[in-house]
Amino acid sequence: MADRMAFLTTARAERERRDAQERLGDWREVYRPGALLPVVGGQAGRCMDCGLPFCHSACPLGNLVPEWNRLVADADWRAAAARLLATNNFPEFTGRLCPAPCESACVLAIDGAAVTIKNVELAITDRAWEQGWDLPQPPERADGRRVAVVGSGPAGLAAAQQLTRAGYATTVYERADRPGGLLRYGIPPFRLEKHRLDRRLDQMRAEGTAFRTGVCVGRDVAAGELRAGCDALVVAVGAAACRELPVPGRGLSGVHQAIDYLTWANRVDEGDLAAPSVSAEGRHVVIVGGGDTAADCLGTALRQGAASVTQLDINPRPPAGRAPGQPWPVHPKVYRETTSHEEAGAAEAGPRVFAATTVGFQPGPDGRLAAVGFAEAEPADRSPRAGTERSIPAELVLLALGFTGPEPDQGLITQLGLATGPDGALARDDGFATDAPGVFVAGDAGRGQSLIVWAIAEGRAAAAAVDRYLRGDTELPAPIGASARALTL
Ligand SMILES: Cc1cc2nc3c(=O)[nH]c(=O)nc-3n(C[C@H](O)[C@H](O)[C@H](O)COP(=O)(O)OP(=O)(O)OC[C@H]3O[C@@H](n4cnc5c(N)ncnc54)[C@H](O)[C@@H]3O)c2cc1C
Ligand code: SF4
Repeated sequence: MADRMAFLTTARAERERRDAQERLGDWREVYRPGALLPVVGGQAGRCMDCGLPFCHSACPLGNLVPEWNRLVADADWRAAAARLLATNNFPEFTGRLCPAPCESACVLAIDGAAVTIKNVELAITDRAWEQGWDLPQPPERADGRRVAVVGSGPAGLAAAQQLTRAGYATTVYERADRPGGLLRYGIPPFRLEKHRLDRRLDQMRAEGTAFRTGVCVGRDVAAGELRAGCDALVVAVGAAACRELPVPGRGLSGVHQAIDYLTWANRVDEGDLAAPSVSAEGRHVVIVGGGDTAADCLGTALRQGAASVTQLDINPRPPAGRAPGQPWPVHPKVYRETTSHEEAGAAEAGPRVFAATTVGFQPGPDGRLAAVGFAEAEPADRSPRAGTERSIPAELVLLALGFTGPEPDQGLITQLGLATGPDGALARDDGFATDAPGVFVAGDAGRGQSLIVWAIAEGRAAAAAVDRYLRGDTELPAPIGASARALTL
């Protein structure tokens, strides 16, 4: 039996990353293979098994964190996998990509270092796949009714897997050529190798979920016809409308939306393109933005061999620790260095400039982008502070400013008669139902730009709502309501 007092004797330890220079030479995941298992048993043993586990309530999926921590500490991996898979369809994605609000809410984090919950989650799922414990779960009985899911990001996939396992004949419609949503063409392979996504999709096919790719619902198939041909429909189309930067020079050749750039790079990785349509190779690159998408552009540009990469973040540099307004157990805004930033440091690629507002893009003699003008941002309204303007050379600018909501309608929204809220998100009640009978909305499409863990939670909850709509009752788990939000003050 593991030491129940390990939180007093064992320090937090992360798994080892590969050397940053080595990482820059390939597109494989940044962590050293095999580095997790040797440390994770001792780390799971640091869990205090609190009477009121805030980690569990900070996880939108309600992952049973203390339970699986204890099972891992006692080396009962099989039971740990069963507990994890009871609440999370895709722990191999969250274990790699979740920002882990659970760790911010860990009681040990009040005055010390949280349990490495995300790493324990990852170790469990990786082991479950290796050992063949995460097997297809085809339904025991077919219900006979049909459900269509539009969109194959984590929300659509989670909804589809739950509904197929519950016995519905479920078909996922995806306008891209491969399923996966942002997991496929947004997030780069150095953070999620795509064979992990393919393996999960194979499992879903083996359970009975059907996929129809290359079909844009509302354009290639009339949404009304689709709805008429099924018993319920889940809309999980994401929030892919990019925020714009309407400054002088925006139209210059060389200024691109980050998501287009990342998609091209991912398509090279998939073998669809021999070279990306736009590459950073040999170019001075400026990334405008400060979130996950910006960091993914940074790692991608470095691997493509950029001459320099400067990141302009309009927000001031966050504090190193919790600010007074963000006490435990809130997931705080603190300074974080991603693996891409670590690589930028190793490559001496260029600065990360905070409180910088972009004022314009300047052309060279050939009419193409040659420089970016920016200034210090006034704290009150982010306007340029007079006298601080300067410009730096740039041959490629990537706009990573976030997303404003679902893309302009290609037919789906009007054909189904869906309403949108003031923020552009698709309207639904707290049970994920729209005003159109039998039509439900899940994921970023309804929540706005969010996270994978929320998308999976939404997909699971929307599946429960569909089941209740069709059967009058449900035993499927609904971890959140549509209005649930992360803990803030
Ligand atoms: C670059 C980047 C990095 C990110 N990194 C992280 C991270 O590290 N951690 C994290 O938690 N979150 C991250 N996110 C956010 C996360 O990826 C999203 O919150 C999540 O993917 C949303 O899931 P979804 O299923 O709602 O939508 P999406 O993943 O956007 O999927 C929607 C799907 O619907 C399809 N679709 C749209 N319209 C139609 C139509 N009419 N017919 C058929 N199909 C349609 C789209 O093609 C798409 O495949 C990142 C986002 C980006 C852009
Ligand atoms: S899914 Fe995210 S929040 Fe939930 S336990 Fe895993 S890392 Fe923590």
